[in-house]
Amino acid sequence: MSALYRIKENVPLAGFTTLGVGGPARYFLSALDEDDIPAALRFAEERGLEAFVLGGGSNLVVSDAGFGGLVVKIDLRGVCFGEPDENGFVIAEAAAGEDWDEFVAECVSRELAGVECMSGIPGSVGGTPVQNVGAYGQEVSETIVAVRCFDRKTARFIELGNAECGFSYRKSIFNTSEKGRYVVTKVKFRLAAGGEPRVVYRDLKDHFGERSPSLAEAREAVLSIRRRKSMVIDAADPNSRSAGSFFKNPIVAAEVLGEIATAEGIDVPSFPAGEGLVKIPAAWLIERAGFAKGYRLGEAGISANHSLAIVNLGRAKAADIFALMNEVRAAVKGRFGLELVPEPVFLGDNSVLPQTASERVV
Ligand SMILES: Cc1cc2nc3c(=O)[nH]c(=O)nc-3n(C[C@H](O)[C@H](O)[C@H](O)COP(=O)(O)OP(=O)(O)OC[C@H]3O[C@@H](n4cnc5c(N)ncnc54)[C@H](O)[C@@H]3O)c2cc1C
Repeated sequence: MSALYRIKENVPLAGFTTLGVGGPARYFLSALDEDDIPAALRFAEERGLEAFVLGGGSNLVVSDAGFGGLVVKIDLRGVCFGEPDENGFVIAEAAAGEDWDEFVAECVSRELAGVECMSGIPGSVGGTPVQNVGAYGQEVSETIVAVRCFDRKTARFIELGNAECGFSYRKSIFNTSEKGRYVVTKVKFRLAAGGEPRVVYRDLKDHFGERSPSLAEAREAVLSIRRRKSMVIDAADPNSRSAGSFFKNPIVAAEVLGEIATAEGIDVPSFPAGEGLVKIPAAWLIERAGFAKGYRLGEAGISANHSLAIVNLGRAKAADIFALMNEVRAAVKGRFGLELVPEPVFLGDNSVLPQTASERVV
């Protein structure tokens, strides 16, 4: 059936997100192949409506009023693996609507290294280049060779090479300079056949000690560490009803770190983040600003297992999530002078959101 006949009206969006809050979309289409995308976008344009591209909804907060435009949910499927080249690398192509973790599991079972540390991250393959997804010492930008997209500006399908995607920490052109321009339909990865897993992150090193794990063991270790932090979506774990990490780790000048350490009279954890810059864990700032794991504000709370995750305690509305977000931001700003920048994307009425959120980089 043509895309236009499959467009539905007033579709509740909460169930399409891992946080489970928010109102309906005025129009909604599940895009099953590439041709559905331009057709749906034309539909929106002809009616003067905004169009929003939805993946797995794991990095998304929908407002209670919902969204008055068209939501295009990317449900394109298909994965294929090439043969190893002379250097032992395999090109894997995955359609944007594939489940990311199922793709990782398939790579690991084929003994292809490069994405194993990103096991258990929820969402779609197409969502991964958008914020350059990463975990436990690995980022998708390290293995992505190219991203196939529909370019809304020129109304053509194109392939962007890795360098054209402008990847950096949780950033790419897809969520910065060219935000909203491209609809990702396929991602090409270059993976090392028979390669070693990446064991650089402290939690993983502690887990294995001196031992060199297999790819499958590394995946299992990542999953078990993530489960302990409720960072794997599990219907039986209420602390996983979240959008993942709610705030980015602020990147600040080294002097700012020094000022905070002096004011607090304590060593502040940090990681190098380029020349003269350091990254401070947002989780540390939040806890130090007075929010213990398990803190509650109405129907929203800080995860009992991870202070960077805001969770829907069961009946939360988007307003509850925003109220807690604003309380945390105000407390961190008041104590350290740092603006915490939210990591999820907000859809719908965003009047409650920080308008000028930016890290204090001086
Ligand atoms: C429990 C939990 C743990 C998490 N852990 C991590 C982690 O360890 N590391 C990490 O980096 N992230 C993590 N996340 C965040 C999230 O899983 C990732 O950002 C994920 O890649 C989002 O993909 P998605 O398909 O769900 O995107 P959505 O939430 O549906 O959309 C997010 C943004 O991407 C855009 N988008 C999605 N698909 C496409 C497409 N095909 N084309 C163009 N734009 C698109 C949307 O328009 C939106 O702007 C976690 C989230 C949760 C809930």
